Amino acid sequence: MLNPKVKAYLQTHREAHLSSLCEMLRFPSISNVSEPDGCGPCAEWIAETMRAIGLQADILPTGGQPCVLGQWRAPGDAPTLLIYCHYDVQPPDPLAEWVTGPFEPTVRDGRLYARGASDDKGQLMMHLMAIEAYQRAVAGLPVHLKLLVEGEEEIGSPNMEAFLLENKERLSADAAIISDLGFFAEGRPAIIYALRGMCALELTFTGPNRDVHSGIEGGVIVNPLHALSSLVAACHDDRGRVTIPGFYDNVAAVSDEERAAWAKLPFDEAARAKDLGVDVLAGGEKGYSVLERNWARPTLECNGLSGGYSGPGAKTVIPSRTTAKFSLRLVAEQDPKRILASVERFVREHTPPGIRSEITIHATNAPVRVATDSPAMRAGRAAVLEAFGTEPVMIGCGASVPVTEQFQRILGLDAVMLGISLPDDNLHAPNECLRLEQLWNGAVMAAALYQNLARNDGG
Ligand SMILES: [Zn+2]
Repeated sequence: MLNPKVKAYLQTHREAHLSSLCEMLRFPSISNVSEPDGCGPCAEWIAETMRAIGLQADILPTGGQPCVLGQWRAPGDAPTLLIYCHYDVQPPDPLAEWVTGPFEPTVRDGRLYARGASDDKGQLMMHLMAIEAYQRAVAGLPVHLKLLVEGEEEIGSPNMEAFLLENKERLSADAAIISDLGFFAEGRPAIIYALRGMCALELTFTGPNRDVHSGIEGGVIVNPLHALSSLVAACHDDRGRVTIPGFYDNVAAVSDEERAAWAKLPFDEAARAKDLGVDVLAGGEKGYSVLERNWARPTLECNGLSGGYSGPGAKTVIPSRTTAKFSLRLVAEQDPKRILASVERFVREHTPPGIRSEITIHATNAPVRVATDSPAMRAGRAAVLEAFGTEPVMIGCGASVPVTEQFQRILGLDAVMLGISLPDDNLHAPNECLRLEQLWNGAVMAAALYQNLARNDGG
C-alpha cells in the first residue's frame, strides 16, 4: 500500500496542483512551427517547477527544441527510474471549434479543457505531483529518479535518437516508464507492450518527358497513372494480404494466449464502424480479429495518389509523372531495412518498360515489444490496481512511439507504457481535455509505482 502520508498529501493539495497544471497549459508550446515562442518558456517553467520540489533540473539542448531533465538521488541503495513525458503540443486549429481557448485552461463537468491537457502535460503533472508528495510529506523519494521531458514528440522526435546516444550515461537507469498514452476504455487502465514500427515512402512513376496528347500518343506510350495504379492494386491479394515477397518473414505469430486475452477486451466493433461511418470494419487480412489486425499484423496503406488532370471538364492528356505515398506499419520481428529492400525489388518488378521509378524514404522506425514480466511491469500493475481498483489490461497499439524502441535499443530499457488519457480526450483535436479524476488517481498510481519499484515487491 502507498504510504498514507503521501496519499493524504495528494488528497489535500489538489487545488494547488490543478492551478499549477493550468499555468503549464497556458504556454503555447507548439513544436510544429518555424518560430515557436512557447517551447522555450515552457521548458523554463518546467525546470523551475522541478527545482521547487527538490530536483536538480537542467535544460538540455538538442538539434531542435530542448529537453528538460530533472534528477533526484535517493539516499543509499535504490533503483533508478527514468520517466519520459513531453511538453510540446499539437497546433490547436481549427480554433473556431474550441468551446474555450486552447491555451485558456477551463474546467467543465470534471474535465480540464486545454491543448496538452491529456497529451501530455497532464501526464507530466501527474509525476510532478507524486514527486512533490514524497518530497514534502515524507523524507523524499524512495527511488533515484530521472524525469526526461521532450519538446519535439509531436513532430516525430527528429532529434531524440541523437540526444539519447549523446546522453546515454546521464540517462542510465534500472527501469523506465513512458506516460504518453492511456486507458483502453473508461474504467479499463492499460499497459501497452507492443507498438508497430513504420516506414513511410513516396514512389514516383515517370513516363514521357512532358504531358502529352491522349489521342496522338494514346496506344503509343505507357501511361504512368495506369502503371502506378496497377502497382497499388497489386500490393494486396483478395484476402487482404500484402503480396510483396518476404513481407511476412519474421512476423511473430499471435500467440494463443494473446488471442484469448484480446478477445476478452470490451471492444465494440459495431460502435467503431458506426463512429467511422462505415458498414463494417473489413480492412486487413482475413482470419484475424480487428485488434489482431491492428496490433499484431503488419500493414501497407496507400496514403495518397496524385498525377494527371483533375480540374473541371475534360483535358485529354497522358501525364508525364504520377506519385503515390505509402506507409507500412511493421510488427516484431520485422526489420525495416529488409522490408524496404523487398519494397524496392517489388517496385522494380512492377515498373513496366517505358516507365522510370523513383523511391524516396521519409521515415523508418522499428517495431517494439517490451518484456511483460519485468520488476517495473509488476510495480506498474500493482500501482494501477491500487490507484484505480482494477488490474490493467495488457494491450498492443497500431501506432508508433519511436522513443520506446530507442529506449530499448540505446538505453537497454524495456519501458512500461502507462498513462491516464481516455479514448474521448480529443487528442490532437479541438477541445482536448483531461478527466480530473484520472489526474488525481494517476498521481496515486505514479507514487505507488515508485514505492513498489523501490521495494521491488511489485505485488
Ligand atoms: Zn503525446
